[in-house]
Amino acid sequence: MICPFCGKEMRKGILSGDGRSAVTWKEGDRKAPLMDRIVGTGTVTAAKHTLTTFTIESYFCADCRKMLFDTDVTT
Ligand SMILES: [Zn+2]
Repeated sequence: MICPFCGKEMRKGILSGDGRSAVTWKEGDRKAPLMDRIVGTGTVTAAKHTLTTFTIESYFCADCRKMLFDTDVTT
């Protein structure tokens, strides 16, 4: 995906968190394993801790510090 802010290629990755630890983002198609702190995985500073586990496929632009993901809102 191309970054709509700067026009560069964004990095595809997985946002994940379990509510007990920091929210992480890992480049690729799989979420970061528990306790994983390898290169390419980082803490998402914008995330607030909650009590639910989640993963979100997302695209990250390090230059703009933006993340994008497709979603809908259902009620
Ligand atoms: Zn950008």
